[in-house]
Amino acid sequence: MKLFGRKTRISTPSPARPTERVTPPFDGMNNFIVVVLDSCRYDSFMEAAPKTIMKLGETEARYSYASWTAPSHYNLLMGLMPHTSPSGVFASEYYKHDFVRYNQRLGARDIEFRSLVPGLWLPDFLRNTLGYRTHAMVSLPVLNSMTPVNRGFDTFRLMDRHNDMNAMLDLMTFPSDRPSFYMLNVGETHYPYARPTEAENQWPRISGVHGVFKHLDDNLVDGCVRESTSGDRFFDAEEMEMLRLRQVDTVTYLDTVFERLFDIVPRNTWITVTADHGELFGEDGYFGHGPIHSEKVFQVPFLEGRLR
Ligand SMILES: [Zn+2]
Repeated sequence: MKLFGRKTRISTPSPARPTERVTPPFDGMNNFIVVVLDSCRYDSFMEAAPKTIMKLGETEARYSYASWTAPSHYNLLMGLMPHTSPSGVFASEYYKHDFVRYNQRLGARDIEFRSLVPGLWLPDFLRNTLGYRTHAMVSLPVLNSMTPVNRGFDTFRLMDRHNDMNAMLDLMTFPSDRPSFYMLNVGETHYPYARPTEAENQWPRISGVHGVFKHLDDNLVDGCVRESTSGDRFFDAEEMEMLRLRQVDTVTYLDTVFERLFDIVPRNTWITVTADHGELFGEDGYFGHGPIHSEKVFQVPFLEGRLR
C-alpha cells in the first residue's frame, strides 16, 4: 500500500496535488464518519428509537472507556470504539479483535491493531498511511482545536453553536480522488438537551447548573455537573425526568438531521454512531457525567453500517 508523507496541518481542505492522485489504494475504500452523540445514554437513544439512524444496523449497548468527554474522545481517536465488556478474554485479544473491524469500515485489507504502532492515533493512520482527508467538527469546548486531540486532522473546527449538527453538514465535502474521514462531536444531546431552534431563554434554568453551563460557553469546562453551586439545592425527581425527556427529544430531532446526512454522503460511506459517555438523571443521586462511577454513565448506544 502506498504511503503518503506527513502533511502540514491546514485550516481548510485543499485539493490533492496531481502526484497524490493514486487510484489503487482508494479503489473500493469507504469514506468514514464517526458521529459521537455527546452524553447520549443508551436508554435515551432506545426510547427515542430514531428510525433513520437505526437503518445503519443493530443498536448495541456498549460501554465507554471513560465517563466524560475529553478522555473518551482521546480513546476513540486511538481507534478503540466503546467496548462490549466481554468476560473471559484478555484485553489485548479484545483490542485485536476490535481492530479487525476497520477492514470492513474502511473497505481495506490487512488493518490490525499493530498497524497504528507506534503513534496509536487513528487520524494519523488514516491520513498518512491510507491517504484519507481527515476532519473534525466538535461542539464541546473541551475538545477545542488547541487541545491534544487535534492531531492528524487536516481541519479541526469548534462549531459556533454547541447544538447544531446541521451546521456541520453544511461544511462536509467528499472529493472523489481520496476518501474522507469525519469525526463529528454532536452537542444537541448534551445538557441542556436543546434543539437548535429552541431559544436560549427557553432552556431549563436550574439554579447552579446554568452557571456551570455558562462557564462551558467560556471554554472552561465540560458541562458535567454533580453538585449545585453556592449551596443551591440539588434537582428533584420531577426536574430530573424533565431533563431526561429533553435528551430523548434531542435524539428524535437528530434523526431528521441524519436523514439529511444520509442524503449528502456518497454511497461508499461507512457511518458509526455512538456516544462518548452516558448521563445520569437521578440514579444513585447523580446528575450528568464526569466524576461519577455508575453503570449508566458508561453505557452508550453503538451502531454502524455502510449506506447502500
Ligand atoms: Zn461528552
